[in-house]
Amino acid sequence: MAKELFDFISEHLEDVKQETVTLIEQLCAIPAPSHHEEKRAEFCKKWLENCGAEGVVIDSALNVLYPLGCENKDDIVLFLAHTDTVFPDTEPMPFKNDGEYLYSPGVGDDTTCLAIMLTVAKYITKYGLVPKRGVLFAANSCEEGLGNLKGIKQIMKDYEGRISEVYSFDGMYKRLANKCVGSHRYEIIFKTEGGHSLNDFGNRNAIYAMSELVHNLYSYEVPVCGDSKTTYNAGVAEGGTSVNTIAQNAKLLYEYRSDSDECLEKMREIFETEIAKSKERNDAEITVNTIGVRPCGKGVDEKRLAKMTEKCIKICEKHSGFECKTSSASTDCNIPMSMGIPAVCVGIFWGSGAHTREEKVEIASIPAGIKIAAELILENF
Ligand SMILES: [Zn+2]
Repeated sequence: MAKELFDFISEHLEDVKQETVTLIEQLCAIPAPSHHEEKRAEFCKKWLENCGAEGVVIDSALNVLYPLGCENKDDIVLFLAHTDTVFPDTEPMPFKNDGEYLYSPGVGDDTTCLAIMLTVAKYITKYGLVPKRGVLFAANSCEEGLGNLKGIKQIMKDYEGRISEVYSFDGMYKRLANKCVGSHRYEIIFKTEGGHSLNDFGNRNAIYAMSELVHNLYSYEVPVCGDSKTTYNAGVAEGGTSVNTIAQNAKLLYEYRSDSDECLEKMREIFETEIAKSKERNDAEITVNTIGVRPCGKGVDEKRLAKMTEKCIKICEKHSGFECKTSSASTDCNIPMSMGIPAVCVGIFWGSGAHTREEKVEIASIPAGIKIAAELILENF
């Protein structure tokens, strides 16, 4: 049956593509900033139900879950694609189809992947296929930035001990992420008495305190652990009142990342040392708020992960015609991987401009994405 369905999809690929493009357009019209995926989640649930899906639920984190044969199973494979985008807009996004490309903010990351996964789920439902083990589809929330992986965290918690493999459809061909980049993100607030720039000259200045910290954090070389990659970034700095006011307030957003748990820990030590020094200098009152923690992989069965990676690369290369390389990334996979559950992030389209308003997806790349997702999913039926 699974093979028949794969053949059916392959033979009707043009129609399935059209259907997917229509779904992408419908999804793009529904804004979904992280933490505000309500409308898109509701749409996905209704769409699946209209296709005949039963048991679809929206959980407390706004994940849309469609479990197939998961009852009383503890060998569940999870397929997911995230609903949220990096854009804060709550008005519908512009969408354009010029016959060659689809244009819309978020169209590739991750709307195309989501539409492809939903379309495959639809055909499985229509064909009434029964899975060999539990299969859980998730249109999950909060993958981007300050979503802080809330969606996948909720799924892994609710299905604790029952999910054994995770495939996240996210990103483009040529890249398959099987190593997690962990990160720690902070908001650092500086407060001083400030004052008049002439009359109170000599009073403490919050911008000075912030600049001093940034300077010191940037004086370090990143730690190296094996073939790890570690980075840091002061991403946003704001503060002050006017040119003739000694700054009373300043705020800094700072992060560091690494695909090595050990290096991440070293970066935390550096950060904490410098914060302690800043506090000691007493250039300002300093408050540190942790705004994001994404863990690295820990205790994953390397053999199993290598097998999954190999399989995915083979399937991706076969259908896309592109060479596919492994990489590190910060995605929904971070959570299962930090729990020792193997997870890979598979790209299923081609395009450009992720996280920009100029994002586009090549329409001709969609059929191969459908086949990749279909083959990966259908092997469980
Ligand atoms: Zn994404």
